Amino acid sequence: MMHITAAEPVRAVESLQRRLTSCPVCGSEEVAYALRISNRRLDQCAKCGLLFMNPQINDLELSEIYRQGYLLCDEIGEANERLTFCKRASARLLLDRICNYKGWKDGNGKRLIDIGCGAGFLLAEAYAMGFEPSGVDISQELLDKASVHAKSASLHCGLIEGLDLPRNSFDVCILSDTLEHVRDPMAVMRAVWNILKPDGVVLVATPSLDSFSARIMKDKWIELKEEHLLYFNSANLQTLLYKNGFSCISMAPHRKVLDLEYLKAHFDRYPCDSIIFFNIAKCLDWVPKFIGRRPFKVTGSGMVAIATKGPHPTDRLSKLSVVVPVYNEKNTFSTLMALLLEKEVPGLEMEIVIVESNSTDGTREEVLRLRDEPKVRIVLQDVARGKGNAVREGLQHASGDIILIQDGDLEYDLWDYEPLIKPILQHGASFTLGLRHRRGAFKMRRFTKKPFLAWIINFGHKMLTFVFNTMYRQHLIDPWTMFKVFRKDCINGVRFHCDRFDFDIELVIKLVKRGFIPLEIPVNYISRSFAEGKKVSFLKDPIKILAAMLRFRFDGVIHSMRVNKSK
Ligand SMILES: [Zn+2]
Repeated sequence: MMHITAAEPVRAVESLQRRLTSCPVCGSEEVAYALRISNRRLDQCAKCGLLFMNPQINDLELSEIYRQGYLLCDEIGEANERLTFCKRASARLLLDRICNYKGWKDGNGKRLIDIGCGAGFLLAEAYAMGFEPSGVDISQELLDKASVHAKSASLHCGLIEGLDLPRNSFDVCILSDTLEHVRDPMAVMRAVWNILKPDGVVLVATPSLDSFSARIMKDKWIELKEEHLLYFNSANLQTLLYKNGFSCISMAPHRKVLDLEYLKAHFDRYPCDSIIFFNIAKCLDWVPKFIGRRPFKVTGSGMVAIATKGPHPTDRLSKLSVVVPVYNEKNTFSTLMALLLEKEVPGLEMEIVIVESNSTDGTREEVLRLRDEPKVRIVLQDVARGKGNAVREGLQHASGDIILIQDGDLEYDLWDYEPLIKPILQHGASFTLGLRHRRGAFKMRRFTKKPFLAWIINFGHKMLTFVFNTMYRQHLIDPWTMFKVFRKDCINGVRFHCDRFDFDIELVIKLVKRGFIPLEIPVNYISRSFAEGKKVSFLKDPIKILAAMLRFRFDGVIHSMRVNKSK
């Protein structure tokens, strides 16, 4: 731990450390005290969930922490060899991820920069894989070590946002266990965007508030350290990347290679209050050497995000695409369209993507009449393959930054667009759901002539919600709502399969699995009866929905970023 003897000067410096009044990622001013570690205050953003030290630790204290053999890399002899092996094997896992993401066989002379390169293990591995490596670190002491480990790397001492590196000059930029240490994440990511070539790729590995260890250990989490200034979750890390001009974001848990003796050295250095980890650390004393020194792969408390540099930083979201699946909606379609064409959302250009699935009641003719409307894009399907299929096709044609799915009927109220979109525009949420009824209410549907039928559907709705929340560890009240609004990049690289009403839940599941926790916002809802054109099938749809929930629980979300990129 830290030893600071000169109490007076330190306090004076600390008072100079400015208190942040807004979230360093989303900019919201709704920040409040969350917890305290070693006498330092951590605040949390109520909008995006970022946890951050406030005020930040000052440079003097930070350098004191880093000075004390920070990276456990001062071992000698055999211990050093094993440490080097584990560090390089962990670096290899990250580099393999990048090659996989880009479809590269190896480094092939690509220029790579490791920000926060420390003693240079990743640089050495990158060189061995054929990359042309460069490293940046604020510690000259560590850079001296890096120059031994990675002789061929070019090294720079300083902060990336302060260094004058040439623009558009790197193919790959890595921030592994770095971003949680920086003072201004926006400035760092902007600097990364500047130095990357067009289509260059960034990899960020950082502790995750969504990780299993964070959830079970809470305020005793092993990653809560004095030198960590920021703690991300999957959603706000993706927001940070998005706001700084990166897209095609792929997320995964951070896997590392280590052995039990390394783990023990880590626990000795960071004694842990948690009783579970205290006992694990104790047990490690008894492990025989031949087991303690065997390296293994482990999913730790971190996450890895990989993303591609886009044409420009997109701090502002400017276009809304409303996707309208239409099939036999003659009674309501023209009224809905009249309202939609009138509709304006302040600050957003609007596009209406109508997907018509070959209706038999004359709706297609009404759709075709809108051909010349400048706001409207029409997609015609030859066969009706289900609402889910129509929405999927609509998503492919949508060009907006924000997507809203609007049914072809009038069950929902267009006045609710603004409250649903607002949190996304403010970067407080990436995904919102229209909440049709408050917690505890049991009045989603009231068909005047068939109260029993309404009761059955409401009951089924409750049961399915319970199953969903249990399986996906959520607390949603109404995941089945039609009103779903999300940033377009949330579904980059995600492939969908469902064709009917099960698509609704597939979309929610896949966004939740990518770390986008939906924000539920109350909306006005008037239920339609079956006689009025409701198309849910009583037996088939609940079974399909259950099957989808089971299937996607264990299915990967991102199938191939490369497929998506070529579109
Ligand atoms: Zn925030």
